[in-house]
Amino acid sequence: MSAPVVTRFAPSPTGFLHIGGARTALFNWLYAKRFGGRMLLRIEDTDRSRSTDAAIDAILDGLTWLGLDWDGEPISQYARADRHRAVAKALIDAGQAYPCYASQEELAEMRETARAEGRPPRYDGRWRDRDPSEAPADVKPVVRLKAPLDGETVIDDKVQGRVVFNNKELDDLVLLRSDGSPTYMLAVVVDDHDMGVTHIVRGDDHLTNAARQTLIYKAMGWDVPTMAHIPLIHGPDGAKLSKRHGALGAEAYRAMGYLPAAMRNYLARLGWSHGDEEIFPTEQLIEWFDLDAIGKSASRFDMQKLQNLNGHYMRAQTSEELMRDFVAFLPHAEGGQAVQAWLSDSTHEKMFRAALPGLKERAKTLVELLESAEYLWASRPLELDEKAEKLLAAEGARAALAGLHERLAALETWNAETTEAAVRAYAEDADLKLGKAAQPLRAALTGKGTSPGIFDVLDVLGREESLARINDQAVS
Ligand code: GLU
Repeated sequence: MSAPVVTRFAPSPTGFLHIGGARTALFNWLYAKRFGGRMLLRIEDTDRSRSTDAAIDAILDGLTWLGLDWDGEPISQYARADRHRAVAKALIDAGQAYPCYASQEELAEMRETARAEGRPPRYDGRWRDRDPSEAPADVKPVVRLKAPLDGETVIDDKVQGRVVFNNKELDDLVLLRSDGSPTYMLAVVVDDHDMGVTHIVRGDDHLTNAARQTLIYKAMGWDVPTMAHIPLIHGPDGAKLSKRHGALGAEAYRAMGYLPAAMRNYLARLGWSHGDEEIFPTEQLIEWFDLDAIGKSASRFDMQKLQNLNGHYMRAQTSEELMRDFVAFLPHAEGGQAVQAWLSDSTHEKMFRAALPGLKERAKTLVELLESAEYLWASRPLELDEKAEKLLAAEGARAALAGLHERLAALETWNAETTEAAVRAYAEDADLKLGKAAQPLRAALTGKGTSPGIFDVLDVLGREESLARINDQAVS
């Protein structure tokens, strides 16, 4: 039996969980879930100036919002520097690494010569076999890997296929800097090994690193994990993803009112596919996800598609699920705090729940849902939007409201059906098209030109509030 799957997500804390990182995390999460394994989280916090608690929190918060949980405590790469140094020492002791005393000037000269000769810049190995007794006393050495001088390093990548690197192109990479701090290349290998990572899934910008890292694994005699380097995400125009295209942090998508389930579905489809399917509830993703179905070419981020998918999820979710996501969204929404306060009243909450089925039909995002729900907490006399003003200014509109008020006030039972019957009867008797009665009603009840179904609105607002709002706008 093969070892249980262990994946990891290893973000550098740059201040937010960007969309590419979120997709990498999702792929690792799905793969671990699919095979009953674990996904670990390692924070690559060796850049001390950027790795603030706030930056780390933003990543954890983004993952949590997306519903991507990890196993165990997040691991700090920085905290493991002693272990990285110990491995560098073990490599020196085993003759697989060596201290290098080349000065900055010497290195610059090497680069210059290489450039002049049209070769890629490459360390020439001058301290590879030199006796440390020759070391200049005033230079603190770096530690370099004694990389193989010829042959090939092969990555059997699950996405990229067989990728061959000529070892001549991979020079003796630095493992420890002269101040004793481990390089990223060493730290990643030691951490992945110690964490028992079996599968590395990450962006294909790390493919060349994978070759160098393989050399370190080999020098230590460690098993190299299975690798999958996924193509980057591009904008809809095929150019590198920029802010303009949607290269934003997870928190920006949350504030724009996207649902975590829709985000998971959308991100999974950015690079991965399963036949012609587009809609994947998360359980389905877990069941079907695999690395070999990830495409080799860059995927294109399309905000419109995400929005449509989100609309689909909004309609498909149960009121319970949507309520949960809406409540979680409010603290991040513009004006959300006031709505939170309003919702804390149980009568209001009941009212909101009653309105939800009507609201969700028209909204593609939670922001739109919030906007179309505004009529619930609007206070009288209602502020009218431009369209509502126009509807009420139409000839006979306000008079129709007076007539409607009379009919509705006479109802014994107040619900969507009885109010609809009353409005229809009034329109017929007054010889009006239904719209001529319903449109001013909409404007008076919601202050807007578009709203959920008007009879649902009457039902949700209830008799007293509805009649008062109609009265506010009616003229007899
Ligand atoms: N910290 C790296 C990044 O954010 C990922 C390193 C890795 O996955 O090996 O790009």
